Amino acid sequence: MKLKILGSSLEQLRDWFVSKGKKHFIASQVFEWVFKKGETEFSKMTNLSLEVRAQMAQELELGLLELVRVQESNDKETTKFLWKLADDRLVESVLIRSGDRRTVCVSSQVGCPARCAFCASGREGLIRNLETHEILAQVYQIDQWLKKEGEEVSHIVYMGMGEPFRNYDNVLASVRALINPLMMGLSQRRITVSTVGVVEGIHRFTEEGLKVNLVLSLHAPNQKLRQKIIPYAREYALETILDAMWHFAEVTGRDITFEYTLLKGINDGEEQAKELALLLKNKQCTVNLIPYNPVEGLRLERPATQAITLFREILDKAKVINTCRYTKGDDIAAACGQLAMQELNLKTAVGDAESTQPFEPVSLAIEGAFTVSRLKILQDAI
Ligand code: SAH
Repeated sequence: MKLKILGSSLEQLRDWFVSKGKKHFIASQVFEWVFKKGETEFSKMTNLSLEVRAQMAQELELGLLELVRVQESNDKETTKFLWKLADDRLVESVLIRSGDRRTVCVSSQVGCPARCAFCASGREGLIRNLETHEILAQVYQIDQWLKKEGEEVSHIVYMGMGEPFRNYDNVLASVRALINPLMMGLSQRRITVSTVGVVEGIHRFTEEGLKVNLVLSLHAPNQKLRQKIIPYAREYALETILDAMWHFAEVTGRDITFEYTLLKGINDGEEQAKELALLLKNKQCTVNLIPYNPVEGLRLERPATQAITLFREILDKAKVINTCRYTKGDDIAAACGQLAMQELNLKTAVGDAESTQPFEPVSLAIEGAFTVSRLKILQDAI
């Protein structure tokens, strides 16, 4: 298999050139072309010898993804990108524009092992891990897209398809590429990894010496209910997960955010609010409440505004900081993994026809199906 530049560290690329009898500094030159000048064609890297360029063309790949579909919300605040991988699998990323922020929500796996009751991504379970270049390419290609409009990616959230800590090594390699000044050069504080609670992952992440944010998808105040909502939660006791999170906060000095997707009649009652308040009282953390975004085929509902207000009042009373931001129209927002599912359904329905030219926003027939993403809500709270 050809080495992918987007999946390599500078050291790996240096080693590759040295192993081919070339000078190690060519690797830095290539990084400069790719990450600073946005040049994706080896033949145009004019300060490299023709011989090096020819060899690169034969034995190296950049590792870009094929863009299948771009879907832009009417207000242009949210853009979904659907990518096809080398094995024809589909993953998606979301770009959220909010004020000066340009946040990319990246996928870390095809499918997801967590199988959260409300999420589209895990319905087929885990299919495979994404390679490092497949994670980084989502950001790189969206950054290129934005640069055409004079903008660039400013924030990253690992809240797309997949469980980042079940693909730890590749996710971490992608984080290191994002923060490397010679690569994407993003600030660590603008990167957020979200986990369903893989304890050994949280511990490893704590020891990395990074200043990256960590978010836990909590969704319930106790183990019993949590297991009902997240089948994967059976793997670890909630207490153990929370201990690992508090430890992370202590070691890194980063504040912790808990995501709590509100599901009508399941985890949105007074009782759960009180239990959650008790669980998090006097802890330095924020609860980010996310009213459920309907996923086709799921019999779940978003709580009424009244229930959300009451839930928040109970948290407020216990001085548990909480956020819940959403604007009009978000009740029909697309959520995690839905675009990939739509595409699959479309394919089964109409055969394998390619739907769009690359980089041309298309509007889907479902009017308004994509007005405001839950990801905007998440991002606002981070
Ligand atoms: N596996 C990781 C990251 C992906 S999910 C994790 O569990 O954190 C990231 C977040 O997406 C979850 O916390 C959940 O709150 C949110 N999410 C997914 N589908 C949703 C839906 N239909 N409605 C509301 N939030 C959803």
